[in-house]
Amino acid sequence: MLVHKIDEVKSKIREWKKEGLKIGLVPTMGALHAGHASLIKKAVETCDKVVVSVFVNPIQFCPGEDYAEYPRTLDEDVKLAEGIGADLVFAPSPDEMYGKGQRLSNDTLAYIVPPFFYVDKLCGKSRVGHFDGVCTVVGKLFNITQADCAFFGQKDAQQLVIIKKFVKDLNFNVEIIPCPIVREESGLALSSRNKYLTEDGKKEALVLSKILNNIKACYDKGITDVNALKETAFSFLTEKHDMEYLEFVDKDDLEDKTTADDNTLVLIACRVEGVRLIDNIILGK
Ligand code: AMP
Repeated sequence: MLVHKIDEVKSKIREWKKEGLKIGLVPTMGALHAGHASLIKKAVETCDKVVVSVFVNPIQFCPGEDYAEYPRTLDEDVKLAEGIGADLVFAPSPDEMYGKGQRLSNDTLAYIVPPFFYVDKLCGKSRVGHFDGVCTVVGKLFNITQADCAFFGQKDAQQLVIIKKFVKDLNFNVEIIPCPIVREESGLALSSRNKYLTEDGKKEALVLSKILNNIKACYDKGITDVNALKETAFSFLTEKHDMEYLEFVDKDDLEDKTTADDNTLVLIACRVEGVRLIDNIILGK
């Protein structure tokens, strides 16, 4: 069932809660692909009722980013989500989420702001305010759906750590379930933004997973010095790749690492054909 209004979701949730059902939430921005599908599948397996939200959240886009162009494919999304067994697709408008005529700024809206330490690095460095927008919308979705469990992809590793942090710090009553990265056979991590790439661009985009896999192979051979591991990336890069960062941090608290270990999360962001792509790997896996 597709609904657009918060009140419709709330009344469905009240019914389900009365029956003592376990509710799962899968927050998405739509343009659903097999990565999203894996989250929905896991939710359907784990919970009695599953809500998939489809919302291109304006407050998590920075000026100059792709908010207007972001792919919107609601009809297909509903088919995919319901095909897997989702019970409700919640697709609100920005006005529904933030109030009509609301100026979407932190002057006018109460925000969930994660600690500076968690956002002043990796994607947060170039996407200032992005994680405030993510946490705020995710917090609202937790309250609207009263979800017992919420499913997030390891693909957005920094987002996952930050969401776990605010859920713990603010005592939200929801269990966060991480789900592994789904990739194309080539190794390319699925992303709604892959739609912006040409066929040639998709080949060039393999540089992210190649760099990460090579770092993992070097680590498995015994190299643990982070600078040495970082240097292995350069042989993969050409003028077609505009690397934003390659960082080694602790997978649970994003603390920088100088020596790699099994808990090290290696994250990469790189532009290909102007499209900003991210990927990551945990060395101990
Ligand atoms: P998005 O629609 O990009 O905001 O993503 C919604 C959720 O799907 C987030 O929890 C993402 O981490 C997750 N996700 C996106 N791509 C993948 C992928 N390739 N594998 C697993 N999860 C993913």
